[in-house]
Amino acid sequence: MRGAHGLQGRRDRAKWKSFITHLECSETGAHYPADRLATLSETGKPLLVRYDLAAARTRLTREVLATRPAGLWRWRELLPVRHPEDIISLGEMATPLLPLARTSAGVPALVKDEGRLPTGSVKARGFTTAVSVAKAFNVRHLAMSTNGNAGSALAAYASRAGIRATIFCPEDTPDVTVSEIAAQGATVYRVNGVIDDCGGIVANGVTSAGWFDLSTLKEPYRIEGEKTMGFELAEQLGWNLPDVIFYPTGGGTGLIGMWKAFAELEAIGLIDARRPRMVAVQAAGCAPVVRAFEQGAAHAKRWEGACTVAAGIRVPHALGDSLILRTIRESRGFAVAVPDDAIITAQEEVGQKEGVLLCPEGAATFAAWRVALTDGRVKPHELVVLFNCATGLKYPLLPAGIRIDHTAPINYTRFASGR
Ligand SMILES: *Cc1c(COP(=O)(O)O)cnc(C)c1O
Repeated sequence: MRGAHGLQGRRDRAKWKSFITHLECSETGAHYPADRLATLSETGKPLLVRYDLAAARTRLTREVLATRPAGLWRWRELLPVRHPEDIISLGEMATPLLPLARTSAGVPALVKDEGRLPTGSVKARGFTTAVSVAKAFNVRHLAMSTNGNAGSALAAYASRAGIRATIFCPEDTPDVTVSEIAAQGATVYRVNGVIDDCGGIVANGVTSAGWFDLSTLKEPYRIEGEKTMGFELAEQLGWNLPDVIFYPTGGGTGLIGMWKAFAELEAIGLIDARRPRMVAVQAAGCAPVVRAFEQGAAHAKRWEGACTVAAGIRVPHALGDSLILRTIRESRGFAVAVPDDAIITAQEEVGQKEGVLLCPEGAATFAAWRVALTDGRVKPHELVVLFNCATGLKYPLLPAGIRIDHTAPINYTRFASGR
């Protein structure tokens, strides 16, 4: 951007301002300073970033936004990075909202395709902000436990920033994911245990090796990037929100982040008080939030023996469990679990009929939407947004391809039937 756009760049930087004021404990509301690198609150709960929304209101208008490049850094006033030179970006763009035409039977549904982002998943949003903050505070070594997509995003953004990254995965993490993490410059370990065992190694490394832990909700900066899904959605729908959002819920940053984004947008006068119902979608083989929601519980107990093809939502115990449940209830939404066979069927149907290769987590939202239409929790006229949080290309696909012998005569009538 410097050089040809030097003057514009300088002017742009002069106008740059984050309206971050402080951090707040999500449980007690206690305040913490914003001028040092934060982890959890004193009570061990996630911290949330707060901004001077009255000031942001005068600055972040629809007209100003319209002049800025697409992508999440256009929301700089409501992001936690004070200096533009600290931004670590890989070209995040606004992800498309794709109408479902052939599988929706005339019922309005849009897929927000997060698979278009750098590293092929929604995690890019969280790591462009979190790694930028880490750089601003001179962090030298980042670490994390992950099932996959977060690891690849951390690896990419850390390498881009020149910061070391060390990542721990359960040993059954797909090879392609582990290779992807390594290819983007991180050191990756396969741990003979589950995700909590990986988390334990990272937590000890914070004190023993001086790492900064970027695991889900252990710090307040990833959620700030994730919340931009909510900003972007409102803007794409002409400053309206849909009736219902189906989000594949693992650690919960997407759901909690969007709910926070809607409150911030209303406070700065960009949307009114109407809100979508937030639906947390989980896999039947790992559904702690659905179970807690149905029991009316404030916390979600750990799910034993978690097992699903949808690795991004295979989270047996989320640190933000009570925030997830609070969001669902405040929005008058609900939580729904779908079995793996329904996930796979949905993935095939949407791929074959719409040309959109959903990830299993995204396919779960499609399956859940169908269930909710059938049981009446969602009405056919309601505008629904389904989040596809990664490209389907990141997951193992079924073998395919019909063999053909080019040396033998070919009977072209066979192609009419697709055999
Ligand atoms: C991380 C992830 C999710 C879950 O998002 P949370 O914000 O952790 O709830 C869903 N789908 C995919 C593909 C993911 O990578």
